[in-house]
Amino acid sequence: MSARTELHDELRREVAALCRRFPAEYWRALDRERAYPEAFVAAMTAAGFLSALVPEQYGGLGLGVTEASIILEQVNRSGGNSGACHAQMYTMGTVLRHGSEEQKQRYLPQIASGALRLQAFGVTEPNTGSDTTRLRTTAVRKGDRYIVTGQKIFISRVQHSDLMLLLARTTPLEQVQRRSDGLSVFLVDLRDAPAGAFSVSPIETMMNHETNAVFFDGLEVPAENLIGEENRGFRYILDGMNVERILIAAECIGDGDWCIEKATSYAKERVIFDRPIGQNQGIAFPIARAYANLRAADLMRYRAAELFDAGQPCGAEANMAKLLAADASWEAANVAVQTHGGYGFAVEYDIERKLRETRLYQVAPISTNLILSYLAEHVLGLPRSY
Ligand SMILES: Cc1cc2nc3c(=O)[nH]c(=O)nc-3n(C[C@H](O)[C@H](O)[C@H](O)COP(=O)(O)OP(=O)(O)OC[C@H]3O[C@@H](n4cnc5c(N)ncnc54)[C@H](O)[C@@H]3O)c2cc1C
Repeated sequence: MSARTELHDELRREVAALCRRFPAEYWRALDRERAYPEAFVAAMTAAGFLSALVPEQYGGLGLGVTEASIILEQVNRSGGNSGACHAQMYTMGTVLRHGSEEQKQRYLPQIASGALRLQAFGVTEPNTGSDTTRLRTTAVRKGDRYIVTGQKIFISRVQHSDLMLLLARTTPLEQVQRRSDGLSVFLVDLRDAPAGAFSVSPIETMMNHETNAVFFDGLEVPAENLIGEENRGFRYILDGMNVERILIAAECIGDGDWCIEKATSYAKERVIFDRPIGQNQGIAFPIARAYANLRAADLMRYRAAELFDAGQPCGAEANMAKLLAADASWEAANVAVQTHGGYGFAVEYDIERKLRETRLYQVAPISTNLILSYLAEHVLGLPRSY
């Protein structure tokens, strides 16, 4: 066995052991109360898992995206939901790749230890949605500060974050050549944001996911919190988006395997008409098909992670991994519901919870249609549709 395979097996074992301390009842109760998994996130932080992508010189584990994806996959495969903390792993990547050495020294060690939580990423806006480069939140330079004004929507984990990575327009759209120019990325310290200039309004969703509308009304952000160069922010977040897509693909694979495992065991045990229901091909074949689709998606997830870790372009693969894995996990969850008959709808079986949780990934962080548009235009050379 190669050292790398051994490391992956060890990570899976360690994460699985941690997750055993947070069984189905834990996630079910949180889901009922719409509460944040504080104890689970604290355990993941203490074990160092959320620092996987922070280089060792800044106090992290210094692992690759492949390894980080294995950690999150294993959480979901164990019945948990990584969505509560996955962004603590990758949001810092923009600082790591594009921040100054001073910013890295200031933030990364504290993010690695969990003393600082950077797990809010503010991009989506109510009036522009998927059309990111038309976003309207502005950051206007005034002396040694930027004044931020605007609104974001569906911004996750803000109430459990000390810092937010924010994408805002610094040069008006009319004055730039390309729409992706003129946007900048800031690290916004939410801890000292005055209530009049920054406010948060929680949004209830179909699954237990802390997400919010946020309002900026002249919030002052020190100029030293700009990441990289002004007006080049859109480019900086693209790498991070690829990582996000690969990691979420892995979570979907974890969800899918959990669902297949539940469906398979139930199909073996449940006897109706004097035979296990899994003996009927009407039950067995959909599970087998979902399994095949899941394994295919898994190959694309590893390919995308391998390319990213080798410093190669991986936009197409990261998008395809997210697309295929989101479809495969949704199919697996749907099959698990069907296999369980009425029990698939009973909360105590957790199947309906997984169905709700994994449904999100057809829409966020990028919707399936937008991935298809990206592939059609940028990979296949078809005319732009919008
Ligand atoms: C629970 C949750 C958490 C989220 N967390 C975050 C977060 O932390 N940070 C953040 O910035 N955002 C977050 N989002 C926002 C998410 O990224 C957006 O919801 C998503 O990008 C889609 O944008 P929209 O909702 O405005 O849909 P719209 O852009 O309005 O699209 C609506 C539908 O139309 C389709 N559509 C739009 N244009 C086209 C086109 N040209 N061709 C074909 N189909 C099209 C889309 O695919 C979609 O199905 C979150 C969303 C949710 C639900």
